[in-house]
Amino acid sequence: MSQLNRRTFVKLAGSAAVLSLAGTPWLARAGTKARVVVVGGGYSGAIAAKYLRMADPGIDVTLVEKNSKFISCPSSNEVLAGDRTIDSLTFGYDGLKGHGVKVVHGEVEAIDAANKQVKVKGGDALKYDYAVVAPGIDFKWEAIDGYDEAAAELMPHAWKAGPQTLLLRKQLEAMPDGGVVFISAPPNPFRCPPGPYERAAQIAHYLKQHKPKSKVMVLDHKTKFSKQGLFTAGWKQAYGDMISWVSGAEDGKVMAVDAKKGLLITDFSEHKADVANIIPPQRAGAVATRSGLVDDSGWCPVDQRTFESSLHKDVFVIGDSCIAGAMPKSAYAANSQGKVCAAMIAARVNGREEPEPSYVNTCYSIVTPDYGISVAAVYQYKDGKIVAVEGASGVSPSDASPEIRKREAVYQRSWFNNITADMFT
Ligand SMILES: Cc1cc2nc3c(=O)[nH]c(=O)nc-3n(C[C@H](O)[C@H](O)[C@H](O)COP(=O)(O)OP(=O)(O)OC[C@H]3O[C@@H](n4cnc5c(N)ncnc54)[C@H](O)[C@@H]3O)c2cc1C
Repeated sequence: MSQLNRRTFVKLAGSAAVLSLAGTPWLARAGTKARVVVVGGGYSGAIAAKYLRMADPGIDVTLVEKNSKFISCPSSNEVLAGDRTIDSLTFGYDGLKGHGVKVVHGEVEAIDAANKQVKVKGGDALKYDYAVVAPGIDFKWEAIDGYDEAAAELMPHAWKAGPQTLLLRKQLEAMPDGGVVFISAPPNPFRCPPGPYERAAQIAHYLKQHKPKSKVMVLDHKTKFSKQGLFTAGWKQAYGDMISWVSGAEDGKVMAVDAKKGLLITDFSEHKADVANIIPPQRAGAVATRSGLVDDSGWCPVDQRTFESSLHKDVFVIGDSCIAGAMPKSAYAANSQGKVCAAMIAARVNGREEPEPSYVNTCYSIVTPDYGISVAAVYQYKDGKIVAVEGASGVSPSDASPEIRKREAVYQRSWFNNITADMFT
């Protein structure tokens, strides 16, 4: 394969337009046999596993995932609105098996980099030549006084989709009209920067239809947030004064909670919530921490060109857990990183020169079912870091017509269908 072709592959691999590469003959050529173990079958890990097999069917790929089904966080805010079911966000792993990925359901205790093996709870140690670690996020439970796993059963975070999403929905349904829903938004960096603000809109969408005297108040650790101008305008247009936002500079930082009493405590105030959604500060998935893959920031430093860990050779970290320069912690970024990482490992396995990476991200947010907004960027590797390509990024226009907003909501649904098909078929 020429240098040009390899570069083109990785550039394509970084975009979501790569769904049909399976039939490409130069990708199907078998290479040197190697064992790759992927830890975590979410937005980054499932893609890395599938694209490794597509890049070289001679690579033996085992995916270890603790859950039997994957539940998507993207679009889970619509479950809160009552516009989607959790079933519509739930996917099985049979499609990956169809690509020759061996799927093991179990919880990984740790990656033993010294002995090149992955230890699965109650199971065998899996030997690898390369490990890909993709466990998503975990919470800094110690960061908000009184907020622990038991408190999350009263004040759900709903930041990992599944039972927590359903619990928050149930609380919204049970709340009387005229109640106040509080959302505590975390400090940077965290999973899905626009997510809390889309959530405010989706909760307001439900309340407007069923409990119109109610309010949503976002208490924020930050002083600004993703797509702020677009969200603020969208909230106002769709929901009037139903949603308010309190900046971290104006006493928005939730420092403690009393979950039993429904209290959120900031530096100078105490708020009584009818429903409280606490999105705690975050760190890399716990298995990355247990495996010595994180630095003092709580996230995993990597060579941002390949995603190989800066701390352990032949271990790659992708998705929300890694430090990926200017890329946000999003599903689309995770997908893009999974493809770059697969191409890098395939090159290494076959003794080829590692290709030049290119990465992308697009994040849609739904303000109402007919009102979508987005942010998009293309990235390159420059001077040791992933940086945005100048002139190749931006947000939806602030003066877009209702027709454009409506189309962006349609694009969001297509985005979800495409990215999940890319992962699971
Ligand atoms: C409400 C909400 C809305 C969002 N909306 C969007 C959106 O519209 N667009 C977008 O791009 N992004 C969105 N995101 C962000 C997106 O969900 C994440 O960025 C993405 O899931 C990151 O992918 P990942 O592979 O790192 O982690 P995940 O997708 O969470 O996958 C991690 C996997 O690892 C498994 N795992 C963890 N530990 C272990 C272990 N020890 N052993 C075995 N398996 C393990 C988990 O079970 C999980 O399946 C949203 C997030 C939230 C919370």
